[in-house]
Amino acid sequence: MQNTVQNIEQKTVKTPEKKPVQKILLVLQHNSGDIAGPSLRLCADINRFARQVDAETEAVLFGSCPEETLKSLGNYGTARVYPVTGSTDNFYSPEQRVDAILELVAVLNPTLLILPGTLQGREMAPLLAYRLEAGFVAGCVEIGCREGKTEALLNVYNGQYQMLCEFTGSPNVVLMADVNRGAIEPGGPEEAEIVTILSTGGMELAPSHVAEPTRQVVETFYLPATELDIAEADIVVGIGRGVQTREDFRLMQELAASIGAPVGGSRPAVDAGWLGFEQQIGQTGRIISPEVYLAAGISGAQQHISGVEKAKIIAINNDPQAPILRLADLGAVGDFKAVVPLLLQKLRHSRKEGPQ
Ligand SMILES: Cc1cc2nc3c(=O)[nH]c(=O)nc-3n(C[C@H](O)[C@H](O)[C@H](O)COP(=O)(O)OP(=O)(O)OC[C@H]3O[C@@H](n4cnc5c(N)ncnc54)[C@H](O)[C@@H]3O)c2cc1C
Repeated sequence: MQNTVQNIEQKTVKTPEKKPVQKILLVLQHNSGDIAGPSLRLCADINRFARQVDAETEAVLFGSCPEETLKSLGNYGTARVYPVTGSTDNFYSPEQRVDAILELVAVLNPTLLILPGTLQGREMAPLLAYRLEAGFVAGCVEIGCREGKTEALLNVYNGQYQMLCEFTGSPNVVLMADVNRGAIEPGGPEEAEIVTILSTGGMELAPSHVAEPTRQVVETFYLPATELDIAEADIVVGIGRGVQTREDFRLMQELAASIGAPVGGSRPAVDAGWLGFEQQIGQTGRIISPEVYLAAGISGAQQHISGVEKAKIIAINNDPQAPILRLADLGAVGDFKAVVPLLLQKLRHSRKEGPQ
Protein backbone atom coordinates (compact mmCIF):
# COMPACT_ATOMS: atom_id res chain seq x y z
CA MET A 1 0.00 0.00 0.00
CA GLN A 2 2.80 2.32 0.98
CA ASN A 3 4.47 1.58 -2.35
CA THR A 4 1.30 2.22 -4.30
CA VAL A 5 1.00 5.67 -2.87
CA GLN A 6 4.68 6.43 -3.26
CA ASN A 7 4.55 5.39 -6.89
CA ILE A 8 1.67 7.72 -7.50
CA GLU A 9 3.48 10.49 -5.76
CA GLN A 10 6.49 10.01 -7.98
CA LYS A 11 4.20 9.98 -10.98
CA THR A 12 2.04 12.92 -10.11
CA VAL A 13 3.53 15.23 -7.49
CA LYS A 14 5.62 18.12 -8.69
CA THR A 15 8.16 19.53 -6.30
CA PRO A 16 6.87 22.95 -5.29
CA GLU A 17 9.23 25.77 -6.24
CA LYS A 18 8.96 27.46 -2.88
CA LYS A 19 9.01 25.29 0.23
CA PRO A 20 5.74 25.98 2.00
CA VAL A 21 5.58 26.64 5.70
CA GLN A 22 2.61 24.36 6.04
CA LYS A 23 1.08 21.59 4.02
CA ILE A 24 -2.67 21.31 4.17
CA LEU A 25 -4.63 18.24 3.14
CA LEU A 26 -8.33 18.80 2.54
CA VAL A 27 -10.68 15.84 2.64
CA LEU A 28 -13.31 16.79 0.09
CA GLN A 29 -16.55 15.30 -1.18
CA HIS A 30 -18.34 15.27 -4.49
CA ASN A 31 -21.89 14.41 -5.46
CA SER A 32 -22.06 12.44 -8.68
CA GLY A 33 -19.07 14.26 -10.09
CA ASP A 34 -19.78 17.81 -8.82
CA ILE A 35 -17.74 19.07 -5.90
CA ALA A 36 -20.19 19.33 -3.00
CA GLY A 37 -21.05 22.89 -1.82
CA PRO A 38 -19.47 22.56 1.65
CA SER A 39 -16.27 21.18 0.09
CA LEU A 40 -16.06 24.00 -2.43
CA ARG A 41 -16.62 26.57 0.31
CA LEU A 42 -13.95 24.85 2.39
CA CYS A 43 -11.49 25.14 -0.50
CA ALA A 44 -12.26 28.82 -0.98
CA ASP A 45 -11.95 29.57 2.75
CA ILE A 46 -8.78 27.60 3.24
CA ASN A 47 -7.29 29.15 0.13
CA ARG A 48 -7.47 32.54 1.85
CA PHE A 49 -5.74 31.13 4.94
CA ALA A 50 -3.19 29.20 2.88
CA ARG A 51 -2.11 32.35 1.05
CA GLN A 52 -1.65 34.10 4.39
CA VAL A 53 0.70 31.46 5.75
CA ASP A 54 2.38 30.46 2.51
CA ALA A 55 0.91 26.97 2.74
CA GLU A 56 0.38 24.44 0.03
CA THR A 57 -3.05 22.88 -0.24
CA GLU A 58 -3.76 19.40 -1.53
CA ALA A 59 -7.01 17.47 -1.53
CA VAL A 60 -8.19 13.90 -1.35
CA LEU A 61 -11.53 12.82 -2.83
CA PHE A 62 -13.25 9.45 -2.86
CA GLY A 63 -15.02 7.82 -5.77
CA SER A 64 -14.83 8.45 -9.49
CA CYS A 65 -14.97 12.13 -10.33
CA PRO A 66 -14.41 13.66 -13.76
CA GLU A 67 -10.89 14.87 -14.32
CA GLU A 68 -12.17 18.32 -15.32
CA THR A 69 -13.94 18.69 -11.99
CA LEU A 70 -10.84 17.70 -10.09
CA LYS A 71 -8.71 20.10 -12.09
CA SER A 72 -11.16 22.93 -11.45
CA LEU A 73 -10.16 22.84 -7.78
CA GLY A 74 -7.06 24.70 -8.94
CA ASN A 75 -9.27 27.77 -9.19
CA TYR A 76 -9.63 27.58 -5.44
CA GLY A 77 -5.93 27.24 -4.75
CA THR A 78 -5.69 23.47 -4.47
CA ALA A 79 -2.34 22.46 -5.87
CA ARG A 80 -2.93 18.73 -6.18
CA VAL A 81 -5.85 16.36 -5.95
CA TYR A 82 -5.64 12.70 -4.96
CA PRO A 83 -8.68 10.84 -6.20
CA VAL A 84 -9.17 7.59 -4.32
CA THR A 85 -11.06 5.12 -6.42
CA GLY A 86 -11.49 1.39 -6.39
CA SER A 87 -12.95 -0.47 -3.46
CA THR A 88 -14.41 2.65 -1.87
CA ASP A 89 -16.36 3.54 -5.00
CA ASN A 90 -19.38 1.38 -4.40
CA PHE A 91 -20.09 1.79 -0.76
CA TYR A 92 -19.31 4.17 2.01
CA SER A 93 -17.24 3.28 5.03
CA PRO A 94 -15.53 5.93 7.17
CA GLU A 95 -13.02 3.34 8.43
CA GLN A 96 -11.88 2.47 4.92
CA ARG A 97 -11.61 6.08 3.92
CA VAL A 98 -9.62 6.88 7.04
CA ASP A 99 -7.27 3.98 6.18
CA ALA A 100 -6.73 5.45 2.73
CA ILE A 101 -6.17 8.95 4.09
CA LEU A 102 -3.62 7.63 6.57
CA GLU A 103 -1.70 6.02 3.70
CA LEU A 104 -1.65 9.35 1.95
CA VAL A 105 -0.68 11.22 5.12
CA ALA A 106 2.31 8.90 5.58
CA VAL A 107 3.60 10.03 2.19
CA LEU A 108 2.54 13.67 2.08
CA ASN A 109 3.20 14.59 5.69
CA PRO A 110 0.60 17.36 5.94
CA THR A 111 0.70 19.63 8.98
CA LEU A 112 -3.05 20.21 8.85
CA LEU A 113 -5.89 17.95 7.76
CA ILE A 114 -9.14 19.81 7.26
CA LEU A 115 -12.59 18.29 6.77
CA PRO A 116 -15.91 19.97 5.98
CA GLY A 117 -18.56 19.95 8.71
CA THR A 118 -20.70 17.41 6.91
CA LEU A 119 -21.86 14.02 8.14
CA GLN A 120 -18.87 12.33 6.47
CA GLY A 121 -16.50 14.94 7.86
CA ARG A 122 -17.91 14.49 11.35
CA GLU A 123 -17.49 10.72 11.10
CA MET A 124 -13.96 10.75 9.79
CA ALA A 125 -12.28 13.65 11.60
CA PRO A 126 -12.22 12.16 15.14
CA LEU A 127 -11.10 8.78 13.76
CA LEU A 128 -8.29 10.44 11.85
CA ALA A 129 -7.21 12.51 14.84
CA TYR A 130 -7.21 9.42 17.05
CA ARG A 131 -5.24 7.30 14.61
CA LEU A 132 -2.73 10.11 13.96
CA GLU A 133 -2.55 11.10 17.64
CA ALA A 134 -3.09 14.59 16.27
CA GLY A 135 -4.36 17.82 17.78
CA PHE A 136 -8.07 18.08 17.06
CA VAL A 137 -10.72 20.76 17.00
CA ALA A 138 -14.33 20.32 15.94
CA GLY A 139 -16.74 23.07 14.94
CA CYS A 140 -14.09 25.48 13.68
CA VAL A 141 -15.51 28.65 12.11
CA GLU A 142 -12.22 30.23 11.12
CA ILE A 143 -8.58 29.27 10.85
CA GLY A 144 -5.86 31.82 11.32
CA CYS A 145 -2.22 32.17 12.15
CA ARG A 146 -0.48 34.28 14.77
CA GLU A 147 3.26 34.38 15.40
CA GLY A 148 3.75 31.27 13.33
CA LYS A 149 1.16 29.26 15.23
CA THR A 150 -2.07 28.01 13.72
CA GLU A 151 -5.21 29.12 15.51
CA ALA A 152 -8.76 27.86 15.27
CA LEU A 153 -11.82 29.87 16.25
CA LEU A 154 -14.75 27.81 17.57
CA ASN A 155 -18.37 28.61 18.36
CA VAL A 156 -19.34 27.37 21.80
CA TYR A 157 -22.76 26.85 23.37
CA ASN A 158 -24.84 27.51 20.29
CA GLY A 159 -22.69 30.48 19.39
CA GLN A 160 -23.19 32.24 22.72
CA TYR A 161 -19.42 32.73 22.89
CA GLN A 162 -16.34 31.89 20.92
CA MET A 163 -13.13 30.11 21.81
CA LEU A 164 -9.72 30.58 20.25
CA CYS A 165 -7.44 27.52 20.25
CA GLU A 166 -3.80 27.37 19.31
CA PHE A 167 -2.14 24.21 18.03
CA THR A 168 1.05 23.34 19.79
CA GLY A 169 2.11 20.28 17.79
CA SER A 170 1.72 18.68 14.40
CA PRO A 171 -0.13 17.21 12.60
CA ASN A 172 -3.54 18.60 13.47
CA VAL A 173 -7.03 17.71 12.36
CA VAL A 174 -9.65 20.41 11.96
CA LEU A 175 -13.33 19.68 11.48
CA MET A 176 -15.01 22.82 10.23
CA ALA A 177 -18.36 23.94 11.63
CA ASP A 178 -21.33 23.15 9.44
CA VAL A 179 -21.64 26.74 8.29
CA ASN A 180 -22.04 28.25 4.92
CA ARG A 181 -19.67 31.16 4.65
CA GLY A 182 -21.60 32.71 1.79
CA ALA A 183 -20.36 33.22 -1.72
CA ILE A 184 -17.73 30.90 -3.10
CA GLU A 185 -14.97 32.94 -4.64
CA PRO A 186 -12.76 31.19 -7.13
CA GLY A 187 -9.31 32.72 -7.45
CA GLY A 188 -9.94 33.44 -11.13
CA PRO A 189 -8.09 32.44 -14.26
CA GLU A 190 -4.81 34.04 -13.19
CA GLU A 191 -4.54 31.85 -10.17
CA ALA A 192 -5.70 28.79 -12.05
CA GLU A 193 -2.84 29.23 -14.44
CA ILE A 194 -0.15 28.95 -11.82
CA VAL A 195 -1.78 25.99 -10.10
CA THR A 196 -1.16 22.55 -11.46
CA ILE A 197 -3.70 19.87 -10.75
CA LEU A 198 -2.49 16.39 -11.34
CA SER A 199 -5.30 13.94 -11.10
CA THR A 200 -4.27 11.14 -13.38
CA GLY A 201 -4.42 7.63 -12.09
CA GLY A 202 -5.79 7.87 -8.64
CA MET A 203 -5.00 5.59 -5.80
CA GLU A 204 -6.23 2.03 -6.04
CA LEU A 205 -6.78 0.53 -2.64
CA ALA A 206 -5.31 -2.92 -2.35
CA PRO A 207 -8.18 -5.13 -1.11
CA SER A 208 -5.92 -6.76 1.47
CA HIS A 209 -5.40 -3.38 3.04
CA VAL A 210 -9.03 -2.46 3.28
CA ALA A 211 -10.49 -2.81 6.76
CA GLU A 212 -13.67 -4.85 7.03
CA PRO A 213 -16.57 -2.40 7.05
CA THR A 214 -18.27 -2.28 10.43
CA ARG A 215 -21.57 -1.20 8.91
CA GLN A 216 -23.31 -1.02 5.58
CA VAL A 217 -25.47 1.74 4.12
CA VAL A 218 -28.84 0.07 3.58
CA GLU A 219 -30.68 2.83 1.79
CA THR A 220 -30.27 6.44 0.75
CA PHE A 221 -33.13 8.73 -0.26
CA TYR A 222 -33.75 12.34 -1.16
CA LEU A 223 -35.38 14.65 1.37
CA PRO A 224 -38.37 16.83 0.53
CA ALA A 225 -37.52 20.49 -0.11
CA THR A 226 -38.87 21.52 3.29
CA GLU A 227 -36.30 19.33 5.02
CA LEU A 228 -33.35 20.56 3.00
CA ASP A 229 -30.43 22.05 4.78
CA ILE A 230 -30.99 25.83 4.87
CA ALA A 231 -27.59 26.32 3.23
CA GLU A 232 -28.61 24.25 0.22
CA ALA A 233 -32.12 25.64 -0.40
CA ASP A 234 -33.12 28.25 -3.00
CA ILE A 235 -35.87 29.66 -0.77
CA VAL A 236 -35.71 29.83 3.01
CA VAL A 237 -38.51 30.90 5.35
CA GLY A 238 -37.17 32.80 8.35
CA ILE A 239 -38.91 33.14 11.70
CA GLY A 240 -38.05 35.41 14.60
CA ARG A 241 -39.17 36.51 18.03
CA GLY A 242 -42.51 37.51 16.53
CA VAL A 243 -43.37 33.81 16.26
CA GLN A 244 -44.56 33.07 19.76
CA THR A 245 -47.06 30.24 19.89
CA ARG A 246 -47.29 26.72 18.50
CA GLU A 247 -50.03 27.96 16.16
CA ASP A 248 -47.73 30.73 14.90
CA PHE A 249 -45.01 28.20 14.25
CA ARG A 250 -47.40 25.80 12.48
CA LEU A 251 -48.61 28.63 10.25
CA MET A 252 -45.04 29.42 9.21
CA GLN A 253 -44.35 25.73 8.64
CA GLU A 254 -47.42 25.57 6.44
CA LEU A 255 -46.16 28.51 4.41
CA ALA A 256 -42.73 26.87 4.10
CA ALA A 257 -44.32 23.59 2.96
CA SER A 258 -46.47 25.34 0.39
CA ILE A 259 -43.46 26.96 -1.29
CA GLY A 260 -41.12 24.01 -0.73
CA ALA A 261 -38.71 25.78 1.59
CA PRO A 262 -36.98 24.80 4.83
CA VAL A 263 -37.38 27.01 7.92
CA GLY A 264 -34.52 28.93 9.49
CA GLY A 265 -34.50 32.03 11.63
CA SER A 266 -33.06 34.36 14.18
CA ARG A 267 -31.37 33.61 17.47
CA PRO A 268 -34.50 34.28 19.58
CA ALA A 269 -36.34 31.63 17.52
CA VAL A 270 -33.54 29.18 18.35
CA ASP A 271 -33.48 30.21 22.00
CA ALA A 272 -37.26 29.74 22.17
CA GLY A 273 -36.81 26.17 20.96
CA TRP A 274 -38.65 26.49 17.63
CA LEU A 275 -35.48 25.82 15.70
CA GLY A 276 -32.23 23.92 16.18
CA PHE A 277 -28.93 25.79 16.22
CA GLU A 278 -28.14 24.51 12.73
CA GLN A 279 -31.13 26.61 11.59
CA GLN A 280 -29.86 29.85 13.11
CA ILE A 281 -28.92 32.42 10.52
CA GLY A 282 -26.44 35.17 11.24
CA GLN A 283 -23.14 36.14 12.71
CA THR A 284 -22.93 33.28 15.17
CA GLY A 285 -25.21 31.02 13.17
CA ARG A 286 -24.96 30.18 9.52
CA ILE A 287 -24.33 32.34 6.50
CA ILE A 288 -26.61 31.20 3.73
CA SER A 289 -27.21 32.38 0.20
CA PRO A 290 -30.67 31.34 -0.99
CA GLU A 291 -32.23 33.28 -3.83
CA VAL A 292 -35.13 34.37 -1.63
CA TYR A 293 -35.40 34.79 2.13
CA LEU A 294 -38.93 35.23 3.40
CA ALA A 295 -38.72 36.57 6.94
CA ALA A 296 -41.61 36.98 9.37
CA GLY A 297 -41.43 38.48 12.87
CA ILE A 298 -37.75 39.35 12.42
CA SER A 299 -36.54 42.91 13.10
CA GLY A 300 -33.46 42.79 10.85
CA ALA A 301 -30.62 43.18 13.35
CA GLN A 302 -27.23 43.33 11.65
CA GLN A 303 -26.12 40.14 13.43
CA HIS A 304 -28.99 38.32 11.74
CA ILE A 305 -28.96 39.98 8.33
CA SER A 306 -25.22 39.36 7.92
CA GLY A 307 -26.19 35.71 7.49
CA VAL A 308 -28.45 36.26 4.53
CA GLU A 309 -27.07 39.32 2.78
CA LYS A 310 -26.91 37.77 -0.65
CA ALA A 311 -30.61 36.85 -0.79
CA LYS A 312 -33.58 38.86 -2.00
CA ILE A 313 -35.53 39.56 1.18
CA ILE A 314 -39.28 39.49 1.55
CA ALA A 315 -40.24 40.71 5.01
CA ILE A 316 -43.45 40.64 7.00
CA ASN A 317 -43.33 42.84 10.06
CA ASN A 318 -46.01 44.67 12.04
CA ASP A 319 -43.68 47.56 12.91
CA PRO A 320 -43.29 49.95 9.97
CA GLN A 321 -40.02 51.17 11.54
CA ALA A 322 -38.46 47.70 11.65
CA PRO A 323 -35.00 47.84 9.98
CA ILE A 324 -35.75 44.75 7.90
CA LEU A 325 -38.41 46.67 5.96
CA ARG A 326 -35.73 49.11 4.79
CA LEU A 327 -33.48 46.26 3.70
CA ALA A 328 -36.19 44.16 2.09
CA ASP A 329 -36.79 43.93 -1.65
CA LEU A 330 -40.45 43.45 -0.81
CA GLY A 331 -42.05 44.28 2.50
CA ALA A 332 -45.48 43.77 4.04
CA VAL A 333 -46.36 45.85 7.09
CA GLY A 334 -48.74 43.81 9.17
CA ASP A 335 -49.25 40.94 11.54
CA PHE A 336 -47.91 37.78 9.89
CA LYS A 337 -50.87 35.91 11.41
CA ALA A 338 -53.05 37.94 9.06
CA VAL A 339 -50.66 38.21 6.10
CA VAL A 340 -49.54 34.57 5.86
CA PRO A 341 -53.08 33.07 5.57
CA LEU A 342 -53.74 35.54 2.73
CA LEU A 343 -50.52 34.49 1.09
CA LEU A 344 -51.43 30.81 1.44
CA GLN A 345 -54.83 31.48 -0.06
CA LYS A 346 -53.25 33.29 -2.98
CA LEU A 347 -50.79 30.44 -3.52
CA ARG A 348 -53.58 27.84 -3.49
CA HIS A 349 -55.60 29.95 -5.87
CA SER A 350 -52.78 30.47 -8.36
CA ARG A 351 -51.98 26.74 -8.30
CA LYS A 352 -55.58 25.88 -9.11
CA GLU A 353 -55.52 28.29 -12.03
CA GLY A 354 -52.16 26.96 -13.20
CA PRO A 355 -49.43 28.96 -14.96
CA GLN A 356 -50.66 32.09 -16.82
C1 LIG B 1 -22.39 38.86 19.30
C2 LIG B 1 -23.81 38.65 18.87
C3 LIG B 1 -24.06 37.68 17.94
C4 LIG B 1 -25.36 37.48 17.50
N1 LIG B 1 -25.60 36.53 16.56
C5 LIG B 1 -26.84 36.39 16.05
C6 LIG B 1 -27.11 35.48 15.01
O1 LIG B 1 -26.26 34.73 14.54
N2 LIG B 1 -28.37 35.42 14.53
C7 LIG B 1 -29.38 36.21 15.01
O2 LIG B 1 -30.50 36.10 14.49
N3 LIG B 1 -29.15 37.04 16.02
C8 LIG B 1 -27.92 37.16 16.56
N4 LIG B 1 -27.71 38.04 17.58
C9 LIG B 1 -28.88 38.71 18.16
C10 LIG B 1 -29.31 39.93 17.35
O3 LIG B 1 -28.60 41.06 17.78
C11 LIG B 1 -30.81 40.22 17.52
O4 LIG B 1 -31.09 40.36 18.89
C12 LIG B 1 -31.71 39.15 16.95
O5 LIG B 1 -31.36 38.89 15.61
C13 LIG B 1 -33.16 39.63 16.98
O6 LIG B 1 -33.99 38.61 16.56
P1 LIG B 1 -35.48 38.92 16.07
O7 LIG B 1 -35.41 39.82 14.90
O8 LIG B 1 -36.13 37.60 15.91
O9 LIG B 1 -36.12 39.59 17.34
P2 LIG B 1 -36.51 41.10 17.59
O10 LIG B 1 -35.38 42.02 17.32
O11 LIG B 1 -37.12 41.14 18.94
O12 LIG B 1 -37.59 41.39 16.48
C14 LIG B 1 -38.85 40.80 16.45
C15 LIG B 1 -39.61 41.48 15.33
O13 LIG B 1 -40.82 40.82 15.12
C16 LIG B 1 -41.82 41.80 14.86
N5 LIG B 1 -43.09 41.17 15.22
C17 LIG B 1 -43.52 40.82 16.44
N6 LIG B 1 -44.74 40.23 16.35
C18 LIG B 1 -45.07 40.23 15.05
C19 LIG B 1 -46.20 39.77 14.31
N7 LIG B 1 -47.23 39.18 14.93
N8 LIG B 1 -46.21 39.94 12.98
C20 LIG B 1 -45.17 40.54 12.33
N9 LIG B 1 -44.08 40.98 12.97
C21 LIG B 1 -44.02 40.83 14.31
C22 LIG B 1 -41.45 42.97 15.71
O14 LIG B 1 -41.98 44.17 15.19
C23 LIG B 1 -39.94 42.95 15.62
O15 LIG B 1 -39.49 43.77 14.54
C24 LIG B 1 -26.43 38.25 18.04
C25 LIG B 1 -26.14 39.24 18.99
C26 LIG B 1 -24.85 39.44 19.40
C27 LIG B 1 -24.57 40.50 20.42
